[in-house]
Amino acid sequence: MELWLNDRIEGQTSSLKVLKVLHLERSDYQEIAVVLTENHGKVLVLNGAVQLSEKDEAFYHEMLVHVPMFTHPSPKKVLVIGGGDGGAVREVFKHPQVERVVMVEIDKRVVDVCREFFPEVSSALSDPRLELLFEDGVKFVRETKESFDVVLVDSTDPYDFAEQLFSKEFFDSVYRILGSDGVCCSQTENPFIMGKLIGRVQNYLGELFKFKTLYWAVVPTYPGGLWTFSLGSKSVDPINFRRDSRVKTRVYSPDLHRAVINFSLFWEV
Ligand code: SAM
Repeated sequence: MELWLNDRIEGQTSSLKVLKVLHLERSDYQEIAVVLTENHGKVLVLNGAVQLSEKDEAFYHEMLVHVPMFTHPSPKKVLVIGGGDGGAVREVFKHPQVERVVMVEIDKRVVDVCREFFPEVSSALSDPRLELLFEDGVKFVRETKESFDVVLVDSTDPYDFAEQLFSKEFFDSVYRILGSDGVCCSQTENPFIMGKLIGRVQNYLGELFKFKTLYWAVVPTYPGGLWTFSLGSKSVDPINFRRDSRVKTRVYSPDLHRAVINFSLFWEV
């Protein structure tokens, strides 16, 4: 019998052939599964939605992280909201000037499971410069007195406890905790499936930041394969980004950075 994982989201589905279910549990927040697939290696699944595959995770993590990190003139303090697999933190630590990273993940079990099944993705979670907090990222940004150079939101889809990570109140708090050159960036889903959500987030960023942009990456295992990120920057236009050859990447490049920013949702207007 063949086993297929169907990642269903708002009228569209993406299917992966599963060879083996390696792990399945219900945490206090969500159903967590790790499956071995035919084409994409091991895959992390939360509440039925694919979070990462071994084969294409770099396409997502590198693009989420390096576009905002290279937009900031000198990112030393970075906040990651969500990101329990550790892939975003791994990319952040490639930047030599980073001194401190705070990661706020609501579900400790995601981190535990990723440490066990995805050591190459989660390895940077042991870096001594990382403070790992298990709480709601919305509450954290509302209450923290600390300020950051870059805030990255590596969240699940905009439902349940992740819904408020896409709200105006959340971005108001993010703006408040960013320093004067601050940059924030959120994953904002597939533009053909969630164009209206992206439009809302872009409006929030436009009201707050001097510069905002929408950019894209190809992530084959996510529904539709095309993914977006919404970036706000207080002082630097994302087209005037830094280069640093010490940061080794497989997917991100300066040429790609230039090519993907200022993406337009022309079909939504
Ligand atoms: N790359 C993935 C994607 O776009 O599908 C996201 C991966 S990462 C595993 C997402 C994490 O966000 C999950 O572990 C989830 O528990 C966490 N998360 C969701 N809502 C959150 C919240 N309000 N505060 C903190 N973490 C949250």
